[in-house]
Amino acid sequence: MSHTSLSGMGVSPGIAIGKPVIHESLPISTVRIGLPLAEVEAEVARFRDAVATAVEGMRENQQRATRQMGAEYAGIFEAHQLIASDPTFLEPVEDIIRSQQVNAEWALDSVVANFVKRFEALPDAHLADRKLDVLDVATQILKALHGFDLGELRALDHPVILVASDLSPSTTVQLPLDKVLGFVLEMGGPTAHTTIIARSLGIPVVVGAHGVCQLAQHAQEVALDAFEGRIVFDPNPAEISEFQSRQREHREQQAQLLQMRTLPTVTRDGQPMELMANIDLTDEVKTAVDWNVVGIGLYRSEFLYMKLSPNLPSEEDHLAVYRDLVERMEGRPVTIRTFDLGGKKLAREVIGATEANPVLGLRGIRLCFSQPEFFRTQLRALLRVAGEYPTGRVRIMFPLISGIEEFRVARLLVRRLCAELRQEGRSAPDGIPLGAMVEVPSSAVMAEDLARETDFLSIGTNDLIQYSLAVDRSNEQVAHLYRPTSPAVLRMIAGVRAAGDAAGVPVTICGEMAADPLMVPLLVGLGLRSFSMNPQAVPVVRALIRQLSYRDSVQMARQALGMVTSREVEEFLLERLAIVLAKTKIRV
Ligand code: PEP
Ligand code: MG
Repeated sequence: MSHTSLSGMGVSPGIAIGKPVIHESLPISTVRIGLPLAEVEAEVARFRDAVATAVEGMRENQQRATRQMGAEYAGIFEAHQLIASDPTFLEPVEDIIRSQQVNAEWALDSVVANFVKRFEALPDAHLADRKLDVLDVATQILKALHGFDLGELRALDHPVILVASDLSPSTTVQLPLDKVLGFVLEMGGPTAHTTIIARSLGIPVVVGAHGVCQLAQHAQEVALDAFEGRIVFDPNPAEISEFQSRQREHREQQAQLLQMRTLPTVTRDGQPMELMANIDLTDEVKTAVDWNVVGIGLYRSEFLYMKLSPNLPSEEDHLAVYRDLVERMEGRPVTIRTFDLGGKKLAREVIGATEANPVLGLRGIRLCFSQPEFFRTQLRALLRVAGEYPTGRVRIMFPLISGIEEFRVARLLVRRLCAELRQEGRSAPDGIPLGAMVEVPSSAVMAEDLARETDFLSIGTNDLIQYSLAVDRSNEQVAHLYRPTSPAVLRMIAGVRAAGDAAGVPVTICGEMAADPLMVPLLVGLGLRSFSMNPQAVPVVRALIRQLSYRDSVQMARQALGMVTSREVEEFLLERLAIVLAKTKIRV
């Protein structure tokens, strides 16, 4: 049987074979299917069910929009419900199903085409635009007919490969991720948040797979190689066995690595390194503990918000999650980053209005400052939990710090809230390590001064690269320009590390670069000692570090820092590291 394949960019390693399910955000095509007379009434009933489901969805949209933006913005969803309940719209569809004995999709399409033609003929442009509402309603009914809404995805009960044009992090966290064998997305990038979540959970992902939504529509099975970025639709037996043998190889490698979990993370010449975990969803703590990390270097607390959305987390919600994290880490330090919402991590319930350029907008610490109550709730919970444990067990980190004044304000808030909690007779820490993310270039430039005021720094290379190279980290069109090997980025990292040393403040690196086998040796050579990464990457990085010579890495980093193009650095690293990478069987 003839089959098709497609290439994209593998951004979370692994192999998967399974049934594709499309999370539809593209227009759904309809075909005409003739029906025997006996099935016509059942088809009418199917249409009515779909309309009811769509109307229910519109009602939910209306409620959500009212909550988030105010009733005046929710009017559109009310109009949608009116259209979807209008007999002059619905009856002709049922008439066509009965008279022409055809499927509901086709009948709906014919009626909509008629409506659109009539609207377009109207002289008033405003009225003519109403056709958009009709089209929107029709799409929602079509989605209900196809059963492709998140409602169904949420209730998935069998393993699938999820195919979508794009997938927001908030949608992703609401999916039953234990049923997702892999993701294939038309958009996205290596450090997009959906990718990060999937990588942390060990789910393979291919992004930039243009046309996948259409091709997957007709496929019964999809094989996914997220090492190579290859997707095969309806693979033949030879291809399936090839994918399966790669999958076995990958599993065997993982099992071998697991045996090394208790070996020290130290270079060949005795330089110890510290490996910590980045956690998005608390389920990942188990993997982090299994892989024997020394602590949590980054808990992205915004995922707690996304999980509970549209409700805002209460102080008690925060307390429960933080206590759970600290307990499960069994005495190891836990670094909790305050909400880094905004940007691509939608926070409509808090921000309210949409922004033209959200990545440069109300994001991270700025958003928290603009919503004092929201921030206060989180900080109070953090301090209460910190007060229950020895100093240093809980550390607070502030995201998107772009100037020292922001850190000072955050520190002041912490001090005030500690006093407030004590007055209430609640637990509050006597001292709590407070750190700043260095992920905006201005903070990297000011690192020496910033380091003097903080207890620790953590370099967020995902954003540092995005903001210093002006390359959207989740836009596949510019993914080739997103270069961790950029000399500008490397020099910034070296500067931040030196600033930390000068002030006697530890510096961790917590962007995805900390798990990139090509970059780790260079970072070791630049003097970084502490790496925080998605838990799945820990064993590979440990194996790699154990093969490195610290002295050679320092010399290699010195040479790399003198280079002036990303390509030069990349080729140099590939050449210098070929033997080490081959020894550890690591693919880059
Ligand atoms: C980073 O920017 O490198 C980082 C770790 O934070 P996030 O990926 O959550 O933006
Ligand atoms: Mg960041």
